[in-house]
Amino acid sequence: MLEVTELPAGQRNAIGVTLGLLGDEWSLLILREALLGADRFVDWRARLPISNAVLTARLNRLTEAGLFLRGNGYRLTERGADVWSILLSIWAWEDRWVASHVERLPGRVHRPCGKPFDPVLVCSACDTPVLAIDHSLEGGFGPSGSWERSVPEATTRRRAADGAPRRPSSDAAFFPQTTALIGNRWSAALVGAAFQGVHRFSDFQRCLNTSPTMVADRIRTLHALGVLADDYRLTAKGLAFFPVVMCLVGWAQRWYRAAEGPALVHRHLPCGTDFVAALDCSSCGDRLVRKDVVPTS
Ligand SMILES: [Zn+2]
Ligand SMILES: [Zn+2]
Repeated sequence: MLEVTELPAGQRNAIGVTLGLLGDEWSLLILREALLGADRFVDWRARLPISNAVLTARLNRLTEAGLFLRGNGYRLTERGADVWSILLSIWAWEDRWVASHVERLPGRVHRPCGKPFDPVLVCSACDTPVLAIDHSLEGGFGPSGSWERSVPEATTRRRAADGAPRRPSSDAAFFPQTTALIGNRWSAALVGAAFQGVHRFSDFQRCLNTSPTMVADRIRTLHALGVLADDYRLTAKGLAFFPVVMCLVGWAQRWYRAAEGPALVHRHLPCGTDFVAALDCSSCGDRLVRKDVVPTS
């Protein structure tokens, strides 16, 4: 049974809460290892170059948020295991678009068809592939949606409380560019705005509601990563990040519900239903489920 967390009216909505929780490289790495079988403190210590203090802080946060159940170790809950589609989308995007990985990422095989594959974002109702540029989704902010409520709170306090740097060392960085995109509240908002078609400086500033200096700084960062082009529109690499965004939105709205209603509402125009993201196998076309995704070295 899905246990949805109710969020109070007027506070951070499902997107803002989710970005605050998952827009963090350590949390993503801990969840990745959990999906690969880690369930004891020593497992993560052995697999990640993470300090006791940082690991404790992150496990506590993820447990408080209902992604782990603490008992004899840490067991992924249904909510925790459900991040697999986000992680799979990130894995595929980093693998395809980020050349600077110290080690190549492992490959992926789809167990039922036995072939290497990429995840393909589809509409869960009609199974049609959905691209950022095909304009098959209509909608935007729902009753609890706004830019202000969709970004996480400032992280200064959390960082200080951890007493350790926010990022893993570079050789452990599995998601270096993903966290540059979603691990900072202004970057995440900028990416969201760009996917809504915003491409003028003044419009970005209106959406983010922050200083021009901050907006310019975030635009520079995303431009340097090759995600935004000279004209501030998303590049092919930026557009290819769409499945990550939609899987994050899907997870957020499966597990968090603001009192007023959803943060984002999209209709899939070809079939007319409310859009819910799903992933298909690029090799056989079947719907991907968590247990059928096998990493290969
Ligand atoms: Zn559809
Ligand atoms: Zn397949």
